[in-house]
Amino acid sequence: MTVANPETTGAEAPIAASKRLDLKLSFQCNNRCVFCVQGDKRDTEPCRTPENVRDLLAERRATCDSVVFTGGEVTLREDLVAQVQHAKALGYRSIQIQTNGRRMSYAPYLEALIEAGATELAPALHGADAATHDALTQARGSFRQTVKGIRHAQRRGLPVVLNSVIVQSNVAQLPAMVRLFISLGVRQSQFAFVHALGTAEQLFDTVVPRYGDVMPYLREALLTGERAGMVMMAEAVPLCLMHGLERFVSEAYMPETTIIDSKLTIESYADWRHAEGKAHGPPCESCTWRLHCEGPWREYPAKFGWQAFRPRTDAPPAIVTT
Ligand code: SF4
Repeated sequence: MTVANPETTGAEAPIAASKRLDLKLSFQCNNRCVFCVQGDKRDTEPCRTPENVRDLLAERRATCDSVVFTGGEVTLREDLVAQVQHAKALGYRSIQIQTNGRRMSYAPYLEALIEAGATELAPALHGADAATHDALTQARGSFRQTVKGIRHAQRRGLPVVLNSVIVQSNVAQLPAMVRLFISLGVRQSQFAFVHALGTAEQLFDTVVPRYGDVMPYLREALLTGERAGMVMMAEAVPLCLMHGLERFVSEAYMPETTIIDSKLTIESYADWRHAEGKAHGPPCESCTWRLHCEGPWREYPAKFGWQAFRPRTDAPPAIVTT
């Protein structure tokens, strides 16, 4: 379903080219993560043609000045380097490659992306060791390749923003993961609570953890990274669970984003999260932080109920309107 924001898409009210474009190129992947929100799209959705990608980049440049190439695994496309070049020629200020990171273990390939204009690498690492990560990706050797790719990017000076999905089997490893990231020299890391769609929905009972089990480890991980000078973020963790950790809530920092999926265009990801992705429930009715909090992904309370969420009574920061 397309969710458009008439205030930001209407011809009468053009917006500045300051949005981010999240462009899904295809759904093929050489990992098969047990929490993949794309599910079986790799078997059902065709790859975008190179011409279509070029057209979308040109068309969306009117409203977007940064782009994230994502999928699926974008490095499986042979035209990725050319598309990065095209995005650079169109004037995209920031060009991020969201990837499982495996192909970055081939230094010449990473070099080609950098020379084409890639400005940021967003690889995914979901465990502190090969056994945990490879079990989650269902791809033996993926941990070794991704870590090697991160080392190449670090050595080359390409900014790395690490993404890690929080699931049952890595909860207790979150602090150790951050220690690994520190040892790799990574400066920014985001932990995202699993969104139970696609494969994660199918495997809900063995993949989705309880917030109560996650929070002690997530707290330690965030603070460990912060003490080491890293920028740390947590996504999809409601504010009643983040007492004293509010500065790490990633939704507060997300730029306005348009997502172009296979059959769906979400003009405003923030609007979509509020209208369809996240939920508020009975505890939120009296919560003093409700206006600052998106609530959890709605699949979580649909399964577990709202017992994990307690309305906050302390005063939130003032919301500034202009
Ligand atoms: S009670 Fe609801 S609105 Fe308040 S912090 Fe928790 S999830 Fe967010």
